Amino acid sequence: MAKTKTFADKLQKATHDYTTHCPECGESFVMVKLIRSEKSEKTEAWRFRKQFVGICKCNTEKITG
Ligand SMILES: [Zn+2]
Repeated sequence: MAKTKTFADKLQKATHDYTTHCPECGESFVMVKLIRSEKSEKTEAWRFRKQFVGICKCNTEKITG
């Protein structure tokens, strides 16, 4: 019985973790920091923009490819 309870607790933890889950594949997103370069229209200088993106099966190729 103790084992069953532990397992249930684990399940609950997994479904209530802090990660966001993809509505399409159900996998939890892996947060990755992307750094994109973009040119400023005003100053024509290049600058880098940091962005956190959630990656799962559905968009891995899109983002990393
Ligand atoms: Zn997905």
